[in-house]
Amino acid sequence: MKRERSAGHFERAKLVMPGGVSSPVRAFNGVGGIPPFIAKAKGSHIWDVDGNEYIDYVGSWGPAILGHAHPEVVDALNEAIENGTSFGAPTELETRLASVICDAVPSIEMVRFVNSGTEAAMSAIRLARGVTKRPMIVKFEGCYHGHADPLLVKAGSGAATCGEPTSAGVTARHTIVCRYNDIDGVDRAMKAHGKEVACVIVEPVAGNMGCVLPKDGFLEGLRDATKRYGSLLIFDEVMTGFRVAFGGAQERYKIRPDLTCLGKIIGGGLPVGAYGGAREYMRQVSPLGAVYQAGTLSGNPLAMTAGIKTIELLSVPGVYEKLEQISAELTEGIERVLKDKRIPHRINRVGAMWSVFFADKPVVDFVSAAESDGAKFRDFFHFLLDGGIYLAPSSFESAFVSLAHTSEDIKRTIEVIGEWAKRQK
Ligand SMILES: *Cc1c(COP(=O)(O)O)cnc(C)c1O
Repeated sequence: MKRERSAGHFERAKLVMPGGVSSPVRAFNGVGGIPPFIAKAKGSHIWDVDGNEYIDYVGSWGPAILGHAHPEVVDALNEAIENGTSFGAPTELETRLASVICDAVPSIEMVRFVNSGTEAAMSAIRLARGVTKRPMIVKFEGCYHGHADPLLVKAGSGAATCGEPTSAGVTARHTIVCRYNDIDGVDRAMKAHGKEVACVIVEPVAGNMGCVLPKDGFLEGLRDATKRYGSLLIFDEVMTGFRVAFGGAQERYKIRPDLTCLGKIIGGGLPVGAYGGAREYMRQVSPLGAVYQAGTLSGNPLAMTAGIKTIELLSVPGVYEKLEQISAELTEGIERVLKDKRIPHRINRVGAMWSVFFADKPVVDFVSAAESDGAKFRDFFHFLLDGGIYLAPSSFESAFVSLAHTSEDIKRTIEVIGEWAKRQK
């Protein structure tokens, strides 16, 4: 597969942007090689500037759950854009999306819109500190909550991929890090510091060290520990919200956090984030309360429009069953061809969110994720890319199935993985 135009674009981009990219993992440092520069996307497929076509399992890193450029979302956006792109004043669109979110997500009674998941997480922590008047936070190794200082400690996603899990210049003396799925570790940390802990923030299904599922009792344990010490429990559902169930992981696992971060899907592919929770907490956000938080483009009418239409299309009965069914078809097929060639692997999946690790032990936390075979993943990644299958360029990321993925897409993907498996000794 030729990528000459992408190579040219990449060289020029590197002169004017660090690494040639607007977000680090896109530069392919984790896997090497030239990132395809994307020209367009439609449904489950994307095309690069050299005209190569790929079946896309990145889905803009989560938002594209309907597939790309869904006609109803495009129509809604076309109509909205005629009315202007930003006003810096309230619109009815915000109330509509907020109402839909409050109805859908069990623990959210009020919500504040921001522009990214990063902002959602840093603002939720700010609120937790304001509510509790405490400084410390507990996070988990390999979880990613955006790039705010207190959260860039042992962070997953690009921070792990680039080998900068705790980035230069960041002070995070109030952050305590525990192991994912290790509730005893959390209990010990809370015993030592619980009275100073404002919040425990967690990805209820981790997606940023690859896909890692919460063990039975882990989320319940966090709920108990935070209640005991008067700390808030924050679910960062930027990835899992409207992904693992309509109401997110909190619906799927039936745990009610105090605050929830959202992003990705709720913006239907436009830049967005949100945080919300019980009225008693959200009332403390400015202008009702003393926790100041603001944004020039927050509640942007285009982002709200794309979000409203996306969630409307997700609320159709049977949608999540369909996502479950095509995702199962895919991962069962991959399992089959890898098993057939006796390639050690673990596939983790919840709904339409999954990843494959080349590991011979269960992957339950960052340490076990990092022990998986990185060289094998790189080889796998490039073979798939050249075979027209677009995965995230790092094993510390999840893959996503959308409603636009067809049985043909799934069949083709399993076929290419089968070809790769055959070449392994
Ligand atoms: C993507 C992600 C973020 C960051 O969102 P951005 O919009 O990239 O700032 C935060 N938390 C989780 C769980 C994410 O998956």
